[in-house]
Amino acid sequence: MAELVIRDLKVSIDGKEILKGVDLTLPQGEVHAIMGPNGTGKSTLAYTLMGHPSYEVTGGEVLFDGQNILELEPDERSRLGIFLAFQYPVAIPGVTVANFLRTAVNSRRRAVNPEDKGVPIPEFRKMLKAKMEMLKVDPSFAGRYLNDGFSGGEKKRAEILQMATLEPKIAVLDETDSGLDIDALRVVSEGVNALRGPDLGVLVITHYQRILNYIKPDVVHVMMGGRIVESGGPDLALHLEEHGYDWVREKVDNGSVPA
Ligand code: ADP
Ligand code: MG
Repeated sequence: MAELVIRDLKVSIDGKEILKGVDLTLPQGEVHAIMGPNGTGKSTLAYTLMGHPSYEVTGGEVLFDGQNILELEPDERSRLGIFLAFQYPVAIPGVTVANFLRTAVNSRRRAVNPEDKGVPIPEFRKMLKAKMEMLKVDPSFAGRYLNDGFSGGEKKRAEILQMATLEPKIAVLDETDSGLDIDALRVVSEGVNALRGPDLGVLVITHYQRILNYIKPDVVHVMMGGRIVESGGPDLALHLEEHGYDWVREKVDNGSVPA
């Protein structure tokens, strides 16, 4: 069973320390949520896990299956089985959803074996059809140009379909606040729920409790001031929805949790 272990992770942007020692363990088979006020470093964590070059790791480590992934390029992380959903996916006019996904699958295969001729088209079609049925995606979707004129919900659908096709072991979804209408929210949560199982670990990053009405997390973490300051079960999300973050902030200020 692979797990993602984040240990004392410190990250700076433009010389300013944003993550101040994040500790978190996400085993395959579990769904964890990270909640927290705006500006506390949630997206910074997501970008750092992805390997975004602007985010400078100044301390700590991120292990996947025992291997430190911070030294790996984003595509190498992907090959290990880590999937990071883009919050703002780019449009690629002229490239269909099906072609994009086939290219992704083939480049993954070629990375393992440079001689690989790629997945035969009939086999790929069959696989994609099965994934689309599982996710209740209309068959015509595969023939559309990737994200070209897609609604928010359709972009999320393309992203979830990519996740289903790549079959990651760990998926990180930064669902920040704005832009997720109810349609997109449903797409994401139904997709995650269809894919969740013993082989997939999911990290849902969110400001609002809303999405957690649809995706029931096993564990909820609260991030504040660049650290995880509180963890608990699904009830913690409901408690935060009702009472806000002030009580957590007070606990941090009182020194009853590490800050
Ligand atoms: P969250 O996702 O929790 O709202 P972020 O990780 O986006 O928080 O931001 C954490 C802090 O880092 C904020 O103070 C923000 O202003 C700062 N920050 C984020 N991205 C950048 C950037 N590219 N350049 C400079 N500062 C940034
Ligand atoms: Mg954010």
